[in-house]
Amino acid sequence: MRAAVLTGVDAPLETRDDVEIAPPGPGEVRVRVVASGVCHSDLSVQNGTIPLPTPIVLGHEGAGVVEEIGEGVTTLAPGDHVVLSFVPVCGECYQCLHGQPFLCERSRAQAAAGLLDGTTRLTSGGAPLHQMACLGTFGEQAIVPEISAVKIPDDVPLDVAALIGCGVLTGVGAALNTADIHEGDTVAVIGCGGVGLNVIQGAKIAGAGKIVAIDLFDSKLEMAREFGATHTINPGETEPVSAIAALNDGRGADVAFEVIGLGATIDQALNAVRPGGEVVLVGVPRLDVMLSLNAAFTFLYLAKTVKGCWYGSSDVRTDVPKLLDLWQRGELKLEELISKEIAVDQVNEAFADMLAGTVARSVIRHAPEA
Ligand SMILES: [Zn+2]
Ligand SMILES: [Zn+2]
Repeated sequence: MRAAVLTGVDAPLETRDDVEIAPPGPGEVRVRVVASGVCHSDLSVQNGTIPLPTPIVLGHEGAGVVEEIGEGVTTLAPGDHVVLSFVPVCGECYQCLHGQPFLCERSRAQAAAGLLDGTTRLTSGGAPLHQMACLGTFGEQAIVPEISAVKIPDDVPLDVAALIGCGVLTGVGAALNTADIHEGDTVAVIGCGGVGLNVIQGAKIAGAGKIVAIDLFDSKLEMAREFGATHTINPGETEPVSAIAALNDGRGADVAFEVIGLGATIDQALNAVRPGGEVVLVGVPRLDVMLSLNAAFTFLYLAKTVKGCWYGSSDVRTDVPKLLDLWQRGELKLEELISKEIAVDQVNEAFADMLAGTVARSVIRHAPEA
């Protein structure tokens, strides 16, 4: 099959046609990937922000059709349409049973570049290829754990469904699950890429009054308005902390989301929230980013809260249907997130577009709609 392969940090992705895929093992299924979003985290693996072994098939936001099931698979059958989850959810471990399935204990570090046991079902030229987050949706097919695939109705277009797998679950989930947004709140969103836009539409669904989008690209601020931002700030022109404070009598935002992953913008988020306000960390920082917080003022006298947000604090088993329902009722924009549909060999251009801030999402279409 064909797949886009990363061979080393900062190398352009190579499209290979010789990738061999082994049959699914016990508890695994083979999925024909119909569509895959190109996410900033794929780029972050390429540039080393997220260190993963190479060669690797990237891609962790996809949807497709189950074609073959391994031994012991009971919840999926060939022909099922599925959204792929980059966090497997076993439903049985401590985290799954305590309301935090996005931290499922089956999803350990080795699953970041292979399947649950760290092995992979892919080879190219006889050498093993890693697969990102038990998935690897930049390949036309993927062997994935049964517990990484969520069945969806057949009539949901798979390009739309693909986006749910990372950007929508993460962004909308950050607003609806992780944060505590009240009706009428002022919400600041720092970083308006694919995930940031979803935080914005999630904040709107949660009933936020003012939604302030902050980004250095005017093109992204324009998209932010389409997804529900009521105010926009370009920090290249306007200092955001005082501009946000000026929107509500100098207090600051009730909730601020950092969707970039930089120490400086995390500081900015902390300064942008009012006393008692909440900061939600959504962006993916480099592993060496450390925070330096004033304990007395941040946490005691000003009683601010910092919340980590992994995968939108989602339970994919209930949140995927919930998000599809919001989409069907016209409350969640999904088609509008797709700026471009591309072939897999155009993925390097999709990375360049992402860096230039000109797209919400590029979606790789491996095959026509099922
Ligand atoms: Zn992603
Ligand atoms: Zn679990």
